[in-house]
Amino acid sequence: MLILGNWKLNGNKNILNDFFLELDFLCKKFQIKNDISISPPIIYLSQAYRILKENKIKVTLTSQNVDIHIKGSFTGETSINMLKDLNVKYVIVGHSERRVYHKEDNKIISSKFHIVKEHNLTPVLCVGEVIKDNVNKSKMFIKSQIDTILNNLGVESFRKSIIAYEPIWAIGSNTTADPNYVNEIHFFIKEYISDKDIFFKKNRILVQYGGSVSEQNINNFINKKYIDGFLIGGASLSIKTFFPIIKILETF
Ligand code: PEP
Repeated sequence: MLILGNWKLNGNKNILNDFFLELDFLCKKFQIKNDISISPPIIYLSQAYRILKENKIKVTLTSQNVDIHIKGSFTGETSINMLKDLNVKYVIVGHSERRVYHKEDNKIISSKFHIVKEHNLTPVLCVGEVIKDNVNKSKMFIKSQIDTILNNLGVESFRKSIIAYEPIWAIGSNTTADPNYVNEIHFFIKEYISDKDIFFKKNRILVQYGGSVSEQNINNFINKKYIDGFLIGGASLSIKTFFPIIKILETF
């Protein structure tokens, strides 16, 4: 199971050291086996990389974004090779906040997905409906988000990739989607991909859930068969709110 903490535009250089050391201490103390990855703002990846390396910490790094170009005149952007320099393992692609505030459409997101795959990092593709609606409408919306990648890059591109189902209405809202509903959507995503490639019948694609996950509600998601991990925003900003979730999920 992958537990991914997305800091978004939060954090500063003074908290990084203590955060990673404390996380490492607790992970060792409670023998955490799940894959824990942190996605600080890109400007702090370098500092985080050094902390992890110097202290031999197993927690991995995720980037919140990547550019579609490798190098050149693209002011303000970060290339996949720069992320590789810092040992980044996962790259979030198509987060709803990038879709909404940076006008990233399915075509750009498909190019980002492609560049991450081409350079052997793991994309975490975020999909999810905008407003709370009935389950069938949500499935059709998610299908259209996945289809651009299927059409441009083929179903094989989903091998060693992760999908994060994040209903936009649940993100930062203090209300999660209903766990049974999430389970049904995850099942749909897995079936949709595996119907197109026999490879996925045996190796089901990993699907994470994201949207207001906290220590208070994580128990509701335990034992949901098709949930393979969590993308956690607000609650990942401090060890006090993040580690209890990690600890509960270890008993899954
Ligand atoms: C997110 O930003 O991907 C997210 C799930 O945020 P939150 O947990 O704060 O809803």
